[in-house]
Amino acid sequence: MKRMLCYREAGSRKGAGRTGLQKKMAAVAGLLAVMAVACGCQMKNYEKIELAGVQEAEKEPGSGGAEEADKADASSVPETLDAQRSAVNAEITKETAPAMEERDEVVYVDATNLNVRTAPRSDAEVAAKLDRGAELRRTGYSESWSRVIYQDKECYISSQYLTTKKPAEETAAAVSTDSSVSGEVGINPEWKYAGFSKINSGKAVLYRAEGNNRKNKVVCVNAGHGTKGGSSVKTQCHPDGTPKVTGGSTAAGAVTATAISSGMAFADGTPEPKVTLAVAKVLKDKLLARGFDVLMIRESDDVQLDNIARTVLANNLADCHIAIHYDSTSSDKGAFYMSVPDVASYRSMEPVASHWKEHHALGDSLIAGLKGVGVKLFSDGKMAMDLTQTSYSTVPSVDIEVGDKASDYSAASLDKLGNGLADGVELFFAN
Ligand SMILES: [Zn+2]
Repeated sequence: MKRMLCYREAGSRKGAGRTGLQKKMAAVAGLLAVMAVACGCQMKNYEKIELAGVQEAEKEPGSGGAEEADKADASSVPETLDAQRSAVNAEITKETAPAMEERDEVVYVDATNLNVRTAPRSDAEVAAKLDRGAELRRTGYSESWSRVIYQDKECYISSQYLTTKKPAEETAAAVSTDSSVSGEVGINPEWKYAGFSKINSGKAVLYRAEGNNRKNKVVCVNAGHGTKGGSSVKTQCHPDGTPKVTGGSTAAGAVTATAISSGMAFADGTPEPKVTLAVAKVLKDKLLARGFDVLMIRESDDVQLDNIARTVLANNLADCHIAIHYDSTSSDKGAFYMSVPDVASYRSMEPVASHWKEHHALGDSLIAGLKGVGVKLFSDGKMAMDLTQTSYSTVPSVDIEVGDKASDYSAASLDKLGNGLADGVELFFAN
């Protein structure tokens, strides 16, 4: 469990402000915007470094300590800028805590893996690491450090990696309408959150529907598990570094989880990934027949893609993401999807904040589809769980448990599941 300890001034507690949903950009326009922001940011860093901030710092009695730039992402700043900044930092180092101008504005992280610190010092405790695009409220500003509200607490981030202009999202769901893309597809390391995956050398396969009923929608069909070595690797539960809010195969409070587990074994010893793959193949054929394009994450017993890599592929190449699982209980309790926990901190964390309602809409549609063909359901068809998949999804995305260890997985049962899930997909896109 990660301890979060931030300084707070009396009476200064305020919630972090968040603006509304962000519209997705077209793939090409998005890419251009990303490039533009990347260049613009570096220029801005360069221009913003002035000695004026140092002069102000002299007036402020403070805690002391080196005022070194908190650079978590060395690749984002060219060497010449580093040299420039070092000269400035050498000056700043002689000073005490920086004077902060009062601010009340929304700022965004424009770096990867950026440190959020408990005090305005480069040796202060790191409370979290944030990814590009993370949104915060800034309450104080100096050339070196910004005071921000992170999870209702005052923390400090190096000013040069914050911007008041929202960095473009590298989402490229519009790729899905470009039907020239098909066949094997791998991770683009530039894609948002790709850097959080640890196992990502595998390839998914994108299939295009060929009938005259094409829907121009890509459904990511993710056969749960099936990544050799995945259970001995850990990945970060949440992109912002906060701990898991519910317990499951990983306990609540953990900040890292198994990159991808090996799954359970059915009552007769059959491994779960064998059966999830069989369901995925049935569903693929039914979706293609109905005019949906399909992104198949796995088509054999092993694909080297962990849960984050699978999610990032779906985020960028599909219009929705369905991960197929069987639960580890033995009661034949019925199908359900993993819903988004009703925990304020989780539902306000991006990208969950902007997408959790879509996840529920997809899950509810799939459950309605399964119910319609007579598949047994567990309770009301959902169970709240903080999952890595959900925590990184920027398209409608669910983990659906279509049964458990005691479920019948005969061809007839899988065909029924396929019909129910395909009906659910149609229902989802019709609404
Ligand atoms: Zn599973």
